[in-house]
Amino acid sequence: MSDVTTIPAVLILLGPPGAGKGTQARMLEEAFGLVQLSTGDLLRAAVAAGTDAGMAAKAVMAAGALVPDDVVLAILKDRMRDADTKRGVILDGFPRTAGQAEALDGLLACTDQQVNSVISMDVEDGPMIARVAGRYTCAGCGEGYHDMFKQPAKAGVCDKCGGADFKRRPDDNAETAGARLTAYHAQTAPLIAYYEGRGVLERVDAMADIAAVRDALQARVKRVMGD
Ligand SMILES: [Zn+2]
Repeated sequence: MSDVTTIPAVLILLGPPGAGKGTQARMLEEAFGLVQLSTGDLLRAAVAAGTDAGMAAKAVMAAGALVPDDVVLAILKDRMRDADTKRGVILDGFPRTAGQAEALDGLLACTDQQVNSVISMDVEDGPMIARVAGRYTCAGCGEGYHDMFKQPAKAGVCDKCGGADFKRRPDDNAETAGARLTAYHAQTAPLIAYYEGRGVLERVDAMADIAAVRDALQARVKRVMGD
């Protein structure tokens, strides 16, 4: 199939904080020539480029308000005309609601496109909280450690630089991690139901190790891309 007739794939990756979504999205970009589009990056780029939609977004953001869906969609539409997105895009952070998902379907239908696959990176809350809450890093060199999964070989001494100073991010605790997951589930549930109804939702076990998650994601994307 030539590039002229190729319709870019539209993928959506859903995953809670700590599920490794960013890492996996980057690997998908590399493997399939996709471009990940996050709402924040899209808005910033459109404002910087001074497009009509970008100017509209700038005015709204300057007033401290949320950018309306139609403006986000207009910016997305502009961005999807760029040459680098001809293989397809991975949407990150949009849609966030079933209403936005419907609006996105409407936008894509104008160009005979559709959301090809929505992949939910599923986690188990308990183990996920333990994973996030146990993280700490060496203050000297930034090497990552974990209370349960990766302690230094010699207690209290960094394997890499020999430093003895470690730090934890204040929000890497069980309470905050739990609250983030609860918020994620509440926000995502309607979206998952919507795409389940459309028959495009797929689930990947995000508790598996990074390579296994990568393989599972790539197998699904490969089917969508027809490679
Ligand atoms: Zn270190």
